[in-house]
This record gives sequence, structure tokens and C-alpha cells, in this order.
Amino acid sequence: MPTAIRFARHGGPEVLEAVEVTVGEPAAGEVRLRHTAVGLNFIDTYHREGLYPLPLPSGIGVEAAGVVEAVGPGVEDLAVGDRVAYTSRPPASYCDVRLAPAAHMVPLPAGIDDETGAAMMLKGLTAWYLLRRSYPVRAGDTVLLYAAAGGVGQIAAQWAKHLGARVIGVVSTDEKAAVARACGCDEIVMADEDIAARVRALTDGEGVAAVYDSVGRDTFTASLDALRPHGVMVSFGNASGPVEPFSLLELASRGSLHVTRPVLFDFIGTREALLAGSGELMALVEAGVIRINVSQRYPLGAAAEAHRDLEARRTTGQTVLIP
Ligand code: NDP
Repeated sequence: MPTAIRFARHGGPEVLEAVEVTVGEPAAGEVRLRHTAVGLNFIDTYHREGLYPLPLPSGIGVEAAGVVEAVGPGVEDLAVGDRVAYTSRPPASYCDVRLAPAAHMVPLPAGIDDETGAAMMLKGLTAWYLLRRSYPVRAGDTVLLYAAAGGVGQIAAQWAKHLGARVIGVVSTDEKAAVARACGCDEIVMADEDIAARVRALTDGEGVAAVYDSVGRDTFTASLDALRPHGVMVSFGNASGPVEPFSLLELASRGSLHVTRPVLFDFIGTREALLAGSGELMALVEAGVIRINVSQRYPLGAAAEAHRDLEARRTTGQTVLIP
């Protein structure tokens, strides 16, 4: 029987359970996939714990790669045997076999293996919209990037460097600092330092053009303090908890700042947008400009252990679950 990881109540990693499921034939517009690798993401922990609540019981996971086993009526651009990768909601990718909308699938080119595909869709498309849409990086900009040795962080650091930015990365350990430098960070600030003061010192007092902040509550004020006048605060994650409500006057007093709180799925809502983003991403990965470093692998049944390691900041780069 096919297996899926599900949870019946919100909570810690212990709520994740492997259950046997029945997977039928694909309906119109669907495909049936046999997963070869499943991507692990920090958002999975928000779904599990209820920060982003879901109707229960729920599946979990929003990213994977696999092979098309069957296609439903009306699906014309995919065939049995095709290799695909995707990011898709509602969460249900922690499984070995599933049905999913064909419109969310992106064919994997021969030069991108399945683990890479599974690891790069959500995180790589996030790096794409952050650097190409939320605040489009220009050559010569200095930008600040948190969790620079992490999943999104490694891809964003390499991409920002490729776009000609000077990249300041924030990390918590010396080992992660070395990883972030290898991904293109020009400067490193340690997470326990006075981040804004260090950024000012590194920019001759000016501050950065944009901050890409995935940490949330603990770093929001430091991030605002690190921006130059008219700078852009892109707050896109809650690794330390959600950002507290704040006064708009905080933006005025620091020099007419901009703040945005983007979500990936608003940038890939049409097939055209999804293919534009994944086309750019895959071209850079195939050309070797962006390396997707799968640094952790767990059996699908060890998803709870993977969550513990991710939340305890023990991972770097990408993590996949193998069915
Ligand atoms: P990461 O691999 O980046 O793991 C999280 C990292 O955050 C840790 O390794 C750690 O790096 C850092 N961190 C800082 N403070 C904490 C804390 N209190 N607890 C845990 N980690 C902390 O995860 P992902 O690449 O999967 O995701 C990165 C972030 O991007 C997440 O916040 C996620 O929610 C967000 N995201 C948002 C999207 C959107 O569209 N809005 C889409 C995709 C991801 P260090 O130890 O170096 O500080």
C-alpha cells in the first residue's frame, strides 16, 4: 500500500505519523506520481505546529520530484514516464505515490537529477521571486540575507552574487559561515552580533539596498536599522516566530523605507509565471551557476527527525526525504 505522512493534531514533530493510503486513478487535469525524492521546507514546520493552520487531519509537504505513472483526462503536455518536480498546495508531498494537478508539474531536464529537482522548486523559486520580483537586485547593490547557509539562503546567495550584488550573509556558526562564503557571500555577520551596527560598518554607514529576512520576530528591528534610506525590507519567514505588529512611523523615521511580506504562491499563480520562474532557475542550475547542495537525506518515515534537525538549526542547504 502507498504510504503518506499525515498529522491529526497540530504540535511538535511527534504528531507526524506514517499511514497507509489508497491512491486511485487521476481525475481530469491530474497526474499520478511516484515520488523519488521529497523536499523538506521550514514551512512544513509552520503547517505542523499550526502557525499556518490547516484543516485536520492533514497531509504535509509542498515539494517533491517523481515520475508520472498515469495521466487523467485532458492532460496533454505530460505522459507516463516523464520526470517532473513541483511545489504545490495543499500540503501532501510527504508520500510515495499521490495524485496532483498536472498544471503544477515542471518537467525535469536530463541535466537535473531527481534529488536536485525535489530540493530546488520551493526554495529556488523563492530565491527567484525575492531577487527578481520583491526587490529586483541590481548590479552594485549591497544586500543582507539571513540564514545564508540554509535552504533558501544558499540559493539566494549564489543568485544575488550572479546578479552582481555584494552579499552580506547572516549565520549562526563558523561552519555555516564557511558554507555561506562558498555560496558567494562577500561578508559574514554572526547572528549573535549587533547586526545593524556590523552592516553599517561594512557599508561606510550607508546601509543596504534590501534585506531578505527569513528569521522574523528576532531580527525585524535590526533589519530595518540596517537599511539605507528608501531601502526595501523583504520579510519572508518566521524561523524565530512571526513579526510583532509595528508602527508605520518606524519606516518614516528610518528614511522612507519600504516593507513587503511576500508569499511564493502569489508569484507562481499562473502557469506562465511558474514556467518563467522555473525556466530561469533551471537554466542557472544546469549551467552550474547555482549549485543545489543536498546536505541531508532521511527516509520518508524519519520525517519527524528531519523536522527536529531543521528547527534546531542543525541543517545546512537542502534536505530531502527518500520514499
Ligand atoms: P533554512 O534551511 O533556512 O532553515 C532555517 C534557518 O533559519 C536555520 O538553519 C537558521 O540558520 C535560521 N534561524 C534563525 N533563527 C532561527 C530560529 N529561532 N529557529 C530556527 N532557525 C533559525 O529553511 P528554509 O530554507 O526551508 O526556509 C528559510 C526561511 O524562508 C523560512 O523562514 C521559511 O519560512 C521562509 N520561506 C518563505 C517563503 C515565502 O514565500 N514567504 C517560501 C520559502 C521559505 P542560522 O543558524 O544560520 O541562523
